[in-house]
Amino acid sequence: MREPWSRASLERLATLLEHAECRFAAPMVAHTSFQIGGPADLLVCVTTQADLERALDYCAGERVPWMLLGRGTNVLVRDGGVRGVVLTLGGELGTYRFDGNTATAGAGAPLGALARAAGNRGLAGLEFACGIPGSVGGAVVMNAGAYHGQFSDVVASVTVVGAGQAPCRLDRHELEFGYRWSSLQQGMAVVLEAKCELRPGDPVALGAIMAELDAKRRAKQPVGLPSAGSVFKRPPGHYASHLIEAAGCKGRRRGGAQVSPLHAGFIVNTGNATSQDVLALMAEVQAAVYARSGIMLEPEIKIIGEDLDE
Ligand SMILES: Cc1cc2nc3c(=O)[nH]c(=O)nc-3n(C[C@H](O)[C@H](O)[C@H](O)COP(=O)(O)OP(=O)(O)OC[C@H]3O[C@@H](n4cnc5c(N)ncnc54)[C@H](O)[C@@H]3O)c2cc1C
Repeated sequence: MREPWSRASLERLATLLEHAECRFAAPMVAHTSFQIGGPADLLVCVTTQADLERALDYCAGERVPWMLLGRGTNVLVRDGGVRGVVLTLGGELGTYRFDGNTATAGAGAPLGALARAAGNRGLAGLEFACGIPGSVGGAVVMNAGAYHGQFSDVVASVTVVGAGQAPCRLDRHELEFGYRWSSLQQGMAVVLEAKCELRPGDPVALGAIMAELDAKRRAKQPVGLPSAGSVFKRPPGHYASHLIEAAGCKGRRRGGAQVSPLHAGFIVNTGNATSQDVLALMAEVQAAVYARSGIMLEPEIKIIGEDLDE
């Protein structure tokens, strides 16, 4: 079926944006930590709020599908790629500043860099996030967490914007945070900025905590291979990795995808994995875990785009 929008409407969008970098047929392999995925029709890195709002309004008006990609560290893009526009945030939308104990971060800012900058200034609360490779916007949407901390512990409010709507501030409680969940997963709002309330701390001690967490991560996780982190959510009362290992799936392969021999919660791309490989392996793991424990693992990663034959 023909889409209601055309290549010409994507070209018009590219000319409307003043400070954006636009690439047609951009391979998502290069924009995701899994290093998997076919091309996005148009990848736009917007660097100003005005261009972001222009792009959202244009896509709504022209009925061009769009999605927001953070640093692409929690997504699996299918081999057929993504139709329409993939927006990423850079420039002024990826900076952060501090005022007293408050950190205000653009959604495109790397979460780990924010955590380290806060620690260096003697601000505590974000140490858990130092090794999470996503963006601040992704951390809000996913309520990213590790080592007994999660983003909802520190975030006070976020500013979001949607097509045809002025930016609006949402307080923490309005985001309905849960385990790897915020209400933003249900809508089409783009996170522009997050305000985090931190506590005074000792920079040296905070640096030492982050170095220890980094070392733990390097020892226990396959950080050297492309992945999207933990593939499945932790079921209540269990660790997904333990269930997967107990079901005999650690190290199991499908094409270029493998359940990491180091951490069974991760699926790694050993070199030439396709999204089909990963999806088939995920289904095998879910079936094996269900057969052994009666627990159906739920994906944590977001699966986006189209299959090759669609
Ligand atoms: C090696 C490795 C280790 C990891 N370890 C952890 C960990 O310890 N804890 C953890 O929680 N996660 C972990 N992750 C997963 C991932 O880093 C987090 O989920 C992170 O928060 C995702 O951020 P992102 O910017 O990459 O989002 P993306 O993967 O780009 O996007 C994820 C979702 O958020 C949406 N989104 C992103 N930015 C915005 C925005 N500005 N506005 C609206 N929607 C947005 C996207 O549309 C998508 O639905 C790990 C991943 C890897 C590869």
